[in-house]
Amino acid sequence: MPKCLECDAEITLKADVETGEIIDCPDCGTEFEVRSVDPPTLDHAPQEEEDWGE
Ligand SMILES: [Zn+2]
Repeated sequence: MPKCLECDAEITLKADVETGEIIDCPDCGTEFEVRSVDPPTLDHAPQEEEDWGE
C-alpha cells in the first residue's frame, strides 16, 4: 500500500488503477500520479498552472 508523500496516510489504489492515473490523498487532498502499478509507486502530480493566458 503506497503512502502519501505529504502526510504519510495510506492511499488505497483501486484494483483497476492504471499507470499515469491521477489520484488524491483522502487525508490531505494532495494529488499524485501513479508512476507504477506493481509495485505501486506514487509521485507528485504535475501542477497545472491556469495562468498560461490565451
Ligand atoms: Zn496526504
